[in-house]
Amino acid sequence: MKKDYGFATKQIHTGSISAQDNYGSMQVPIYQTATYRFKTVQEGGARFAGEDGGYIYTRLGNPTQAVLEARMADLENGEAALALASGMGAITTAIWSAIDGESEIIADETLYGCTFAYFVHGLSKFGVKVHMVDMANPENIKAHLNKKTAVVYLESPCNPTLKIVDIAEVSRIAHEYNPDIKVMVDNTFATPYLTRPLDLGADVSLHSATKYLNGHGDVIGGVIVAKKDFVEVCRLHGLKDLTGAVIGPFDAFLLLRGIQTLDIRMDKHSKNAKEIAEFLRDHPAIKTVYYPGFKDFPGHDTAAKQMDQFGGMISFETYKGRDETAAAINGLQLATIAVSLGDTQTLVEHPASMTHSAYTPEELKAAGIPESLVRISAGLEDAKDIIADFKQAFDKLI
Ligand SMILES: *Cc1c(COP(=O)(O)O)cnc(C)c1O
Repeated sequence: MKKDYGFATKQIHTGSISAQDNYGSMQVPIYQTATYRFKTVQEGGARFAGEDGGYIYTRLGNPTQAVLEARMADLENGEAALALASGMGAITTAIWSAIDGESEIIADETLYGCTFAYFVHGLSKFGVKVHMVDMANPENIKAHLNKKTAVVYLESPCNPTLKIVDIAEVSRIAHEYNPDIKVMVDNTFATPYLTRPLDLGADVSLHSATKYLNGHGDVIGGVIVAKKDFVEVCRLHGLKDLTGAVIGPFDAFLLLRGIQTLDIRMDKHSKNAKEIAEFLRDHPAIKTVYYPGFKDFPGHDTAAKQMDQFGGMISFETYKGRDETAAAINGLQLATIAVSLGDTQTLVEHPASMTHSAYTPEELKAAGIPESLVRISAGLEDAKDIIADFKQAFDKLI
C-alpha cells in the first residue's frame, strides 16, 4: 500500500490487490486448504529451501492469512506480521521465539490473567525467570535489567485496572541497557487505531484479535507485528515447531472483515465509554472509576501522549464488598455478564471471580485489583440505554 494513505483506507485495502486476481472477487477469498500442490519434486524442494516463496502447508502460511498479516503490519507501521489462532497463541509464540532456558523476562505486574498464568505458572517450570514490576514508573525495570534479560513485557492500558505504562520510556530504558532486548507490548485494548507501539520504540506489538480488531465477538485470533526477521523466527520456529497455533482461513477472513470498520467502531466505543465513565463517577455507590480519559487518572498524561482516544474500557470499584457488587452486576438487564471485550454488545465482568481468578488474594492486591472491581467493555449501543441499565442495577447499592 502507498505509504501516504490514511488509516481508514489502509484498513480496507492493504494487501487485498493480490487476492483479487481470483475472478475479480471484491472480498478476499477464503483459501480453505491445508496443503498446496507442487508441480514437481524440484519445485517442492525449492519451497522448502526458501528459494521459491510459494505456499507449502497452511501452518506455514496461507493466502487469506497473508492479506490479514499485510494489513496489520501496515496499520501498525511494522515490517511484517503473523496471524495466529488466538491472542495467547500470539503471546506464547512471540515469547518462546525470543527466549531460551537461561533467559529472564521483566513484566509489568498488571497483566491479562492467562498471560500472568503463563509467566508465573508456565515459564517457571522451564527455569525462565520472570520479574514482575510496576511499570507505572518505568525506572522500576532498571533493578532487574541484566545480561540475561531477553524480553520486557507490558500492556497499556493494562487489564483490568487500565493502568497506563509509558511505552516510549520503557523502550528507551530497556534499549539503552541492551538494544537486543525485545520490548513487547500487548496492544489489545488500544488497537492500532489508538496506539502504534512500534512507532513509540517497542519491538513487538501483540494482539488478541478476538477483541476490537474483529469487533463482533465471533472469532478467536491473535497477531504479532514486528520487524521482518523476528516475525520470520515466530513463523518458522515459534509457530511451526513450538506452539502450532495456526489461524484457520475462515477466521482470517472474518478478521479482515472486522478490521475494515475498526476506526468507526473505536470512535464509538471511545465515545460511549467516556459517557458511561462520567455517569459512573457521579454515582453514589461507586467509589472510584478507572478511566484513562479522566484528567485526575494517574496515567492520564501518558495516555494522552500515546493514545489518540482513550478507548472503550472502564473499570470501577464500589463501596461494597465482593458479594453485594456481584449481586448488582447480576441485576443488569441490557449489559451482558461475559468476559472478553470489544464486541458490539456491552460486556461486564468481575475480574476477581473471572479473568483474574488465577491470582491469589495477595497477587490481586499487588496488581492493584480490588475485589469489588467491575470491568466494562462499552459496546456500540446507545450510551443512554447502557447508562440507564447501570443506574437501575447499581442504585440498589446506595
Ligand atoms: C483476551 C486477551 C488476551 C488473550 O487473547 P485470546 O484471543 O483470548 O487468546 C491477551 N491479552 C489481552 C489484553 C486480552 O484482552
